[in-house]
Amino acid sequence: MKRVYNFSAGPAVLPEEVLKEVAEEMFDYQGSGMSVMEMSHRTKLYESIIQTAEKDLRELIGIPDNYKVLFLQGGASQQFAMIPMNLMKNKKVAYIITGQWAKKAYEEGKIYGEAMAVASSADKVYSYIPDCSDLDIKDDVDYVYICENNTIYGTKFWELPNTKGKTLVSDVSSCFLSEPVDITKYGVMYGGVQKNIGPAGVVIAIIREDLITEDTLPFTPTMLKYKIHADNDSMYNTPPAYGIYICGKVFKWIKKMGGLTAMKELNEKKATILYDYLDQSSLFKGTVVKKDRSLMNVPFITGSDELDAKFVKQAKATGFENLKGHRSVGGMRASIYNAMPIEGVEKLVEFMKKFEAENA
Ligand SMILES: *Cc1c(COP(=O)(O)O)cnc(C)c1O
Repeated sequence: MKRVYNFSAGPAVLPEEVLKEVAEEMFDYQGSGMSVMEMSHRTKLYESIIQTAEKDLRELIGIPDNYKVLFLQGGASQQFAMIPMNLMKNKKVAYIITGQWAKKAYEEGKIYGEAMAVASSADKVYSYIPDCSDLDIKDDVDYVYICENNTIYGTKFWELPNTKGKTLVSDVSSCFLSEPVDITKYGVMYGGVQKNIGPAGVVIAIIREDLITEDTLPFTPTMLKYKIHADNDSMYNTPPAYGIYICGKVFKWIKKMGGLTAMKELNEKKATILYDYLDQSSLFKGTVVKKDRSLMNVPFITGSDELDAKFVKQAKATGFENLKGHRSVGGMRASIYNAMPIEGVEKLVEFMKKFEAENA
């Protein structure tokens, strides 16, 4: 059996320890004689899995009691609609457009009300985070929406926007649990888990309780009401049970690693190795303004499409998978999420040095 270094943006690398553990539990989970995949979610055993997962997540982030944790389905993209359906009261929302995912959320928001783009970095192919210290945010907007880490373009909000006292809603799909956060600054923090936590199919939404009401937009389907899921502890219908079990294992792994502070330190170390090399390379260069660089997704180019393709191909043959940039931007992208070991980044840089020497 051989494992590659997987730099995929998502679904992405998971901790090897977790994979081994779930493999061991595959046929007989804790003496039940069955896999978690085969288990009714209405059992004591499964209840303990989902409750422990929530408890560990609350501990990791430090989530106070006035926030609900929901395990949902439909991908992060479903939240582009679910958020306006549940939170739009005045039907006005301010969006900050820093990439494709924020733009998709904004386009979806337009279906339900007045979606206003109050800032954007589209003018420079989303290679920076716009100044959000004094935006034109109307008094009656329901919330301000951001995508905190831009998976495709490799930028990150290192400072949250000044929302002028309005509720902040943030898509953290690609930076979930990569660093400590102050959840009290957010009304909603949500993310698909397939970037940094678990298998695709689970979305975690952490929502301040006062935002969870019966007062949704008309025709909001039952399944898209936060209140239904909150009142039923994410068990209104069959939850993505196996995915949540894996998320729970990853929460335990992060706790064992030292929690979010340790995770951030490790992520900074890994990103620094790669960015330091990019900054002095005469062949490769990063595409993002330095101060806005993501620790999770690192896009880079050689400047030649031909060399980029050659690099991706040789890298793959050497055991570095999924380094091709997103289909909308080209070039390369190394996604170095929590579970990417530091050796993976060190070996990638070694390989890049060799490629540079051979192709200079
Ligand atoms: C991947 C991603 C999405 C889309 O996730 P799906 O689960 O495929 O809907 C949305 N936002 C961000 C920031 C992402 O990285």
